[in-house]
Amino acid sequence: MPKQEGRVAIYPGSFDPITLGHLDLIERCSKLTDKVIVAILRNEDKQPLFTVEERMEMLDEVIRAYPNVSVDSFDGLLVDYASERGATMILRGIRALTDYEYELPMALMNRRLRPEIETIFLMAGEAYAFISSRLVKEVIRLGGNISGLVPPTVEVRLKNRILGERA
Ligand code: ADP
Repeated sequence: MPKQEGRVAIYPGSFDPITLGHLDLIERCSKLTDKVIVAILRNEDKQPLFTVEERMEMLDEVIRAYPNVSVDSFDGLLVDYASERGATMILRGIRALTDYEYELPMALMNRRLRPEIETIFLMAGEAYAFISSRLVKEVIRLGGNISGLVPPTVEVRLKNRILGERA
């Protein structure tokens, strides 16, 4: 493992786009660790609404307020990427039981691959537990109001992308 300063956590995900639920987790984790790297998985299969570069830009805009948080992207095995970055923790969020069922096998597999890296889970903030990137996109497509669910800059981009394309 490369030499690193302090405890580094990787927060991996799609972030298509980042929501206030993600941001709440990032903020809380940033207080527990020395450094948080928010890492977008480059996954061609998922047909995202925003490109990896767009998602990184949106993340960059909102994490500026947190000096120990940075943004990156990766492909391949998460634990190998985490190890390359000198991280000892992987951060994931739990909203409902379905998240737990999805996360548990991944965490156990990652532990088997690299036991020195620990997956840590933070429970969703109570105000954010119902928010997902997927639902936010669906609501805006159907004409609903998403303010208070995503950062304002993200709301503008979502409206431009989803509603702008229809105009
Ligand atoms: P993935 O495709 O890897 O699930 P997401 O961007 O949907 O990527 O989610 C990344 C992580 O953030 C997951 O662990 C997910 O459970 C967590 N997460 C997503 N939305 C919220 C939220 N509103 N509150 C807390 N955690 C969340």
